[in-house]
Amino acid sequence: MTQLSVRSVPRAPAATATPSSRLELLEYYLAHHDDLALCAQASLEWLARHAGVKRSICLIVDAESSLLAGLAGTGVRTEDVELFSWPLSDPRDPLVAALSHTGPTALRGGRTNGEDRGASSTLFGGGSSTAIPLRPGRASDETAIGLLLVKAAIVLTPDVAWLVTVLSQKIDQIRGRGSLAEEARRLRRERALFFTIINSVTDPILLTDTEGRLIVANARAEKLFAASEEESEGRRRAVELNNMLFSAALSRTAVETPSEARELLLVDPSDGSDLLFEVLSSTVEDPREGTGIVSVLRNITDLRRATEQIEENYQKLRVAEAAARAERDRLNLIIDSVADPIIVTDQGGATVLMNAPAEELFTVSMTADDTAQRTVQANDAHFSSFISGLLLGEGGPGEIRRGEIGLMNPQTSEPIPVEAIAGKVLTETGELTAVVTILHDRREALERARLYEQLKSASDELQMRVQSATAELATQNELLRRQAIELEQASRLKSQFLANMSHEFRTPLNAILGYTHMLLQGVGGELPANVRRQLQRIDSNGRHLLTIINEILDITRIEAGKMPMQITEFDLNEIVQEVMTELDPVITRSRLAVMPRLAAASSPVVQSDRQKVKQIVVNLLSNALKFTHQGGVEIAVEYVPEERAASISVTDTGIGIAPEHHDKIFEDFRQVDDSPSRQYGGTGLGLAICRRLASALGGRIVLRSNLGEGSTFTLTIPADAPQ
Ligand code: ADP
Repeated sequence: MTQLSVRSVPRAPAATATPSSRLELLEYYLAHHDDLALCAQASLEWLARHAGVKRSICLIVDAESSLLAGLAGTGVRTEDVELFSWPLSDPRDPLVAALSHTGPTALRGGRTNGEDRGASSTLFGGGSSTAIPLRPGRASDETAIGLLLVKAAIVLTPDVAWLVTVLSQKIDQIRGRGSLAEEARRLRRERALFFTIINSVTDPILLTDTEGRLIVANARAEKLFAASEEESEGRRRAVELNNMLFSAALSRTAVETPSEARELLLVDPSDGSDLLFEVLSSTVEDPREGTGIVSVLRNITDLRRATEQIEENYQKLRVAEAAARAERDRLNLIIDSVADPIIVTDQGGATVLMNAPAEELFTVSMTADDTAQRTVQANDAHFSSFISGLLLGEGGPGEIRRGEIGLMNPQTSEPIPVEAIAGKVLTETGELTAVVTILHDRREALERARLYEQLKSASDELQMRVQSATAELATQNELLRRQAIELEQASRLKSQFLANMSHEFRTPLNAILGYTHMLLQGVGGELPANVRRQLQRIDSNGRHLLTIINEILDITRIEAGKMPMQITEFDLNEIVQEVMTELDPVITRSRLAVMPRLAAASSPVVQSDRQKVKQIVVNLLSNALKFTHQGGVEIAVEYVPEERAASISVTDTGIGIAPEHHDKIFEDFRQVDDSPSRQYGGTGLGLAICRRLASALGGRIVLRSNLGEGSTFTLTIPADAPQ
């Protein structure tokens, strides 16, 4: 066994157990050291040197843990001493019992009178030993503070007794002093630990008194509520403000429910930003310090921001959800409102959505007959094979597939040829999510195509007929053209004939009129009255016939283009006066007032055919006198130099002409009353000639009249007649 000292103890000069050796122990060790183990070790070594006790151990009572622990030893293994601990729980245990003995207790290895169960034999390797109680006071009833365990039975010599006394007192002294210092150290440690703990908390923690004065604050709280004089003005102000806000919050908390969390807005003294805290205050009672308030501030600035963000996102989500729902409803509405069947299938070809027209083709009620069920199955099979074609990429790599499918109406078993157009719906990443297929009923298109064919053949036939009719028409036109040429030739011949005939009529008629006139003038002697009357009738009828012949001659001349124009310069006012003079006998006979209204200012001189203008005016005035029974006639001349146009209008208050006859009376031989019993004479050629003459002069005749309201015929001619 290696014999080692427990501690390295400075060696004292060798001495016997003399007063000086005792003094040396006291002076060198016990008076200068407060280390329990060191003092005990020095004492045991003193025993070995001066009292011949070579193997001994000092055991000490640890009341807290209720153990007897090894403190120092000589002649034993250090680790045996250090690891030694013996329970004090059993009062019958020899070691425990030894503590309460006044004197030494002899212990034997194995079965001893003290029934040592192995404590000393563990330490000393068996054999007898002695346990001497260490008791600082004199009172023998007091429990020992430790044991001096000595190998072999020894006699309590004065040196051993002395050492036991001084060691007991030293242990007691060190323990007493040590407990105070230890307490102070413990308190310091605890305080340090306390601050370490509260400073490690990231939330500000404050302990305030009931007046709101700060007692304890952790580091985080100090940053918010404390500022030294050296710190910046801004920071100090922020701290001041925080203190004010916190005091206000605390007083409110005191008034209201103290344990309830409330929000507190503070200022970050380092950057002036707002910090939102949740304050949780609770009242603490301390017997010495009195009542205090512990407040824990939890920074919820980020939390609030996150909450707001979450709230905002939630709102956005709800809006998006609503929009998506509306969009889905709209889509459903659209799909349902489409007349063509629409089917939406997933990437596996399973139907996920279909509109009402599609349901009619692909669904059947449970009560439907077998035929309807089989038809629906057949429709389904046809459709599935079409869709699988698209999914397998048949018909090209495109996203749209067209094809024709033969379906049947489950209700009527009527075949429905459809054109299917299927499109893939891809995600942003190009994954297939659905296939939308629209089925278009082709029956109408096929019917239209059939009708179109029919129409086309009918149209071709029609075209052929039109072609033959056109050819026929062309033949007829050619025939007509030839007939027109023949007619024109015949008309010219007729006019020529009439002109010749009129001439032939006029020569003998003029002779008749000449002879009649001579007879009436009494060239053949005085005539009896009845002969004179008969001659006058011959004369009157002859003149009438001459007028007719002249008019026919005029017409035929104009028709044959043989009416020569003689353009001269003349005054229209003069023409009017001449006409009035010429028709004076007729005017007198009519007993009507004829009022000339000649052009004022400059005389209306025109370049035209004087004789033809006069003939027109004579005709218009003759008609006016003939068809007027009362009232009067006015002849007005107007001339507009700027327009180089002149007009002569004849207005009467006669019988008037109904509007439906306005055009008719300008036609050849036409009269309003063309009955055999007509009241007024005439040939019906006068106005026809007038219109032709006016047109030859470059002018026209306009009529304004109504039945019973008189008439106005206006001749308008250019001041310069065309050559
Ligand atoms: P007619 O020699 O018969 O007078 P016109 O050609 O001069 O031939 O006239 C044709 C017809 O126009 C007349 O028969 C008459 O019915 C009608 N007509 C012409 N002038 C007048 C008028 N001033 N008032 C009423 N009717 C008229």
